Amino acid sequence: MKTRKYEKLILDIINSSCDHLSAEEVFAKLKEIEPNVVLASVYNNLNAMVMEGKIRRVAVEGQKDRYDKMTKHDHLVCKCCGALADFHFDDLTKDIEARLGEKIIGYNLNVIYICPTCKEKNAL
Ligand SMILES: [Zn+2]
Ligand SMILES: [Zn+2]
Repeated sequence: MKTRKYEKLILDIINSSCDHLSAEEVFAKLKEIEPNVVLASVYNNLNAMVMEGKIRRVAVEGQKDRYDKMTKHDHLVCKCCGALADFHFDDLTKDIEARLGEKIIGYNLNVIYICPTCKEKNAL
């Protein structure tokens, strides 16, 4: 259980960030506080915390997994640059459950679009 001592710090890093950090980015931030930490224990902690529902993993095709806080929100993903932005859509849980006829645990909604920066670039 030794590696779990970093868990609280990792959770703080993820919960206070709006950047959707990759494991390597979490590692870089943690290293500033805990210089002896190794990347493998960051991976171990992240995996365990995802399993335990403390954080969530955001998977975007063709990109590294990123880690995010649990607060309910959805994502906008830019088709051009892969930028990930938080967005609050209406909660679809009830609609999905009604269609499915089953209770659900959650859902992942990634809405693909062209971000304002890319749109501007394309317009030039
Ligand atoms: Zn973009
Ligand atoms: Zn997010």
